[in-house]
Amino acid sequence: MEAIATDFGIEKALKQLGVKDINEGTSTGSNNFSNGDIIESYSPVDGKLIGKVKTTTQADYDKVMDAATKAFKTWRTMPAPQRGEIVRQFGEKLREKKEALGKLVSYEMGKSYQEGLGEVQEMIDICDFAVGLSRQLHGLTMHSERPGHRMYEQYHPLGVVGIISAFNFPVAVWSWNTALAWICGDVCVWKPSEKTPMCGIACQNIAAEVFAANNLPEGISCLINGDYRVGEMMTKDTRIPLVSATGSTRMGKIVAKEVAGRLGKSLLELGGNNAIIVTPDADVKMTVIGAVFGAVGTAGQRCTSTRRLIIHESMYDTVKNAVVDAYKQLRIGNPLDEKNHVGPLIDKDAVKMYQNALTQVVEEGGNVIVEGGVLSGEGYESGCYVKPAIAEAKPEFKIVQHETFAPVLYLLKYSGDVHNALEIQNGVAQGLSSAIMTNNLREAEAFLSVQGSDCGIANVNIGTSGAEIGGAFGGEKETGGGRESGSDAWKVYMRRQTNTINYTTSLPLAQGIKFDL
Ligand code: NAD
Repeated sequence: MEAIATDFGIEKALKQLGVKDINEGTSTGSNNFSNGDIIESYSPVDGKLIGKVKTTTQADYDKVMDAATKAFKTWRTMPAPQRGEIVRQFGEKLREKKEALGKLVSYEMGKSYQEGLGEVQEMIDICDFAVGLSRQLHGLTMHSERPGHRMYEQYHPLGVVGIISAFNFPVAVWSWNTALAWICGDVCVWKPSEKTPMCGIACQNIAAEVFAANNLPEGISCLINGDYRVGEMMTKDTRIPLVSATGSTRMGKIVAKEVAGRLGKSLLELGGNNAIIVTPDADVKMTVIGAVFGAVGTAGQRCTSTRRLIIHESMYDTVKNAVVDAYKQLRIGNPLDEKNHVGPLIDKDAVKMYQNALTQVVEEGGNVIVEGGVLSGEGYESGCYVKPAIAEAKPEFKIVQHETFAPVLYLLKYSGDVHNALEIQNGVAQGLSSAIMTNNLREAEAFLSVQGSDCGIANVNIGTSGAEIGGAFGGEKETGGGRESGSDAWKVYMRRQTNTINYTTSLPLAQGIKFDL
């Protein structure tokens, strides 16, 4: 184990989360089954080794599944409000560990400390939401067409829910799934991204502490580690009725096919190619804040990052100049240092994709107006720090149609009315987040209408990036169609049963069918 950066309180945070001095470790208690190859987790912040984690072999996986399946039998019989109480305690533990976990998220993934704290806050929020929901897992009561009959529906847990998550939200996406799945009576097996395994272990440790304190089986929350091969163990496994997968569209297409092939359910949260429409009635100051945070926050590595700015020709130069000016203020550097706005990309492969995108946009005839580049020298030793770039482009460019997971913003011009802008916005394969900046009610309503945005998220006078847990989160088209988090997203984690009870002494058939014996 190499030395860990001692600055910014990282060492203390790792200790507090039980991931300090993890060498070939996996997790606590019965989840400590892994015997496979080793993943080394290096921080994109300073390039240092954070720890080593063993991956899960097929035999290890089967042990985990045994623990989970067994735990389900206990957990499903506990009344939902009591399960809510456990989730409440989990939320309390997260409050205690918020700073430490926020720091680890920032150090292992590279997002700013503020965004790391925000991610943990989202976990706390979804726990609060789930606690209330644990008393509201309602079904309907219907009138039967037959006399002396009662008909209603109820929701039962599904069983073992498999969770596959991406590197860019290494802790929050897990909790969006688990907090709901747990109150619904499911147990969870989680495969975090192989790029952020320490975040996985830290979360598992927190959950394990809560289950142990309540004498509940640890199998309610299971962790497995590794790359797509470990993910495939879950997608192929008929013991897992629901696989919730967050990541690239490429991955989602494979997972969808595999899970559908065994008639399982999948909940897919995939790539976005999000746009802000800026109309002649936009507030320029608000537009600049929304667009710049959307494009450079998390170094452009949010599924909801702003990738396209679709600006009306009458506003084009004003908005362009204001955004370019704002980019001059950006400070790029260690994300744990709160003075910096932009941290590193996750790894050097991501840096290559960023560079390729900038080359390609020029090859396709685009015009780079804020130059990109990879930073080197003191503070940038990891080789993962890049300059946020802006290019003027055309909507139909292949690179503009593609999600590049980096801080590259494309400026696109439209003329005529908002419907022309919407055609550009909707003219991509992805359908996650969208926004319009306007003070014109007609434009705003057109954007939200049936002819408007085709995305799962459509905002007015807010950027594309960042969502509250109270609403259902997800997107259409190649974003996968899944919905997680708030509203009635809980229904995905349960199976619906329709019950009809006959309290008479005869047996009338539905639709008046006669069957006399
Ligand atoms: P990725 O697709 O490379 O990996 C995501 C996860 O899928 C990882 O855990 C990986 O090991 C696993 N995986 C990959 N191939 C698999 C397979 N064949 N079978 C089973 N598991 C497999 O994505 P990433 O680079 O970690 O994350 C970035 C992507 O995630 C972006 O496209 C981003 O838009 C998307 N994302 C979407 C949302 C959303 O809610 N829509 C949220 C976060 C990230």
